Amino acid sequence: MATSHARAFAAQSASTPLAPYGIHRRAPGPVDVEIDILYCGVCHSDLHQARNEWHNTVYPCVPGHEIVGRVTRVGTGVTRFKPGDIGAVGCMVDSCRTCSSCRAGFEQYCLSFPTFTYNGEDKHLGGPTFGGYSTGIVVDEAFVLRVPAGLDLAATAPLLCAGITTYSPLRHWKVGPGQKVGIVGLGGLGHMAVKFARAFGAHVVLFTTSAGKVADGLRLGAHEVVVSREPEAMKKHVGSFDFILDAVSAQHDINVYLGMLKLDGTLTLVGAPEQPLPVAAFNLLLPRRQFAGSAIGGIAETQEMLDFCAQHRIVSDIEIIPMQKINEAWDRLLRQDVRYRFVIDMASLKG
Ligand code: NAP
Ligand code: ZN
Ligand code: ZN
Repeated sequence: MATSHARAFAAQSASTPLAPYGIHRRAPGPVDVEIDILYCGVCHSDLHQARNEWHNTVYPCVPGHEIVGRVTRVGTGVTRFKPGDIGAVGCMVDSCRTCSSCRAGFEQYCLSFPTFTYNGEDKHLGGPTFGGYSTGIVVDEAFVLRVPAGLDLAATAPLLCAGITTYSPLRHWKVGPGQKVGIVGLGGLGHMAVKFARAFGAHVVLFTTSAGKVADGLRLGAHEVVVSREPEAMKKHVGSFDFILDAVSAQHDINVYLGMLKLDGTLTLVGAPEQPLPVAAFNLLLPRRQFAGSAIGGIAETQEMLDFCAQHRIVSDIEIIPMQKINEAWDRLLRQDVRYRFVIDMASLKG
């Protein structure tokens, strides 16, 4: 099969830093879109995956699933994109398209597992799929999103994962006016969740471990910010929430947040820490609380989210870095020192 070369950064094992690596991309087939990557957001999942924290990583691992770029070539059957257009790719590049989940627009819950943008199974070239920490990518048009005019391209990249992963559960659980909604963790996902929950009309309370993020939390749209290390401040909110979204990347006590829910309230986990989170039974039983999870969002819903963002002028707060600074950025991510998403300027890899 004809291929082209792309420059990338890859992890060769769980314990090696990301380093330059050459990869091949397939020549666009009839329904494929070839994208010259301009920007790629840095998700905490990239780090979990590259360091094998979910125990399923195939090496070499080229992370990156918050991709915005310019279309360079399209297959003969492609109808929605032409060379020169802007296209975006999130966490998935394919799915079976025939199962009940796919037909319902929930490709992320495909019964045969979606093909993830990285660490998936490359059905065309074999081996693992390689993500957006690279100069180019080729994706079936059905999994390429349109970026509405007027959005800043670099600040749009994080919407492709952090955006949809928080938009989808807030919509599914019908967060809106009259509700008290909690967001736990002000990182990449958390800061998007605060913006969306506010835009949907809820009363938004942010929980953060970082006293230094209080002012930002308010600026981003929270009505109240609680530093979760302060027991007195936490106590005031026990039993009062309709809905809480937990976007924390590491071990923490989930029972504290279950205890914040009122009758029939729901705590939805989007964070994916390495270790299981113990749940105390009585925190669910009394008073009839629900503990749920949610993964990214479907393709149609991702487009809906991008259109919503354009209408409401919502993008991510970003710090742009060159590809060569990625290992430093990951260290900062682990220190909770990101305001609030790193985005790689892929020009740094082209030169
Ligand atoms: P991030 O930018 O690193 O943000 C995580 C935040 O969690 C931190 O900023 C911090 O917020 C809080 N935190 C970190 N360590 C903590 C600890 N030990 N105790 C309490 N709070 C802590 O990460 P992200 O990219 O937003 O991703 C968050 C999680 O979601 C990751 O596990 C990622 O893999 C997962 N994820 C899931 C999906 C999905 O489909 N469900 C999609 C994308 C990402 P404060 O400083 O405010 O406390
Ligand atoms: Zn992600
Ligand atoms: Zn399917």
